[in-house]
Amino acid sequence: MTGIDLHTHSTASDGLLAPAALMAAAAGAGLSTIALTDHDTTAGIAEAQAALPPGMTLVPGAEISCEVRVAEGRVISLHVLGYLFDPAEPEFAAVRARLRDDRESRARRMVDKIAADGHPVTWERVQELAGGSVGRPHIAGALLEAGLIADYDEAFTRDWIGGRASRYWADKEQPDVAEALRLIQHAGGVSVFAHPFAAARGPIVDPEVIERMARLGLAGVEVDHPDQPPSARERLRSLAADLGLLVTGSSDFHGTKDGPGHGIGVNGTDPDVLAALVEGATGDAPRTRAA
Ligand code: AMP
Ligand code: ZN
Ligand code: FE
Ligand code: FE
Repeated sequence: MTGIDLHTHSTASDGLLAPAALMAAAAGAGLSTIALTDHDTTAGIAEAQAALPPGMTLVPGAEISCEVRVAEGRVISLHVLGYLFDPAEPEFAAVRARLRDDRESRARRMVDKIAADGHPVTWERVQELAGGSVGRPHIAGALLEAGLIADYDEAFTRDWIGGRASRYWADKEQPDVAEALRLIQHAGGVSVFAHPFAAARGPIVDPEVIERMARLGLAGVEVDHPDQPPSARERLRSLAADLGLLVTGSSDFHGTKDGPGHGIGVNGTDPDVLAALVEGATGDAPRTRAA
């Protein structure tokens, strides 16, 4: 465990802790630096900044949903962490707003399909569970509450909303990864490919895609991530060395329901890597509260 965690979620998307409580949890875990990277939104940053405990640094960011077309017309979803971009830059801000709208209509279609099968899950309840950017975890919460699944993870199987082949799946519109990288850069930010080889979450990309992303300005890859086993981390680490990409580590903390291995600060990032990310960004700066 080190003191710099560059990937966490709050109630502004699908985390369980409000931004202020998340900052307190980071301090409680002994972290010096935390990035708030909610899905497709920066809505939690102001609250996090206001609640920043003494001696801590906040790195503003967001985790952007996008996709890449690979062989035979297959589409793979991926997540890019954008750090230190200007949240007011209009072009990227408009795309984030559209992504959130699409999340809502997609979640609603999933809930409609589930309800049409006679299951007691309502869109109203899912909306109550989602304080901001809505996602599958909120639907999982509603399924759990209704007693339809035995545990949270069961929602992410083929029987429910576990992927494109799952029973109640609905697609959402997402920008191509090249467009996501361009928008982050256009807003003065730097990009890190989130959990590239987290195969348990769904199909993953070939190294060739990461090479292409590197040519498009990708700054780094998230290597130490709870959903990436040691073998995946080693492959990524050597790929990053070959491509001249920075290597980050983070918890992807969503709150306590994520179970063992996902605790805040469970993985960390080298201070030199953070310094290089900050150096590469022109859109925004980290926030620090004096000790
Ligand atoms: P969405 O952005 O709506 O597609 O939901 C994606 C989120 O669901 C991720 O950020 C995780 O928090 C969660 N998630 C995805 N796959 C799994 C899984 N297999 N088990 C538990 N949570 C998952
Ligand atoms: Zn999430
Ligand atoms: Fe992610
Ligand atoms: Fe995440």
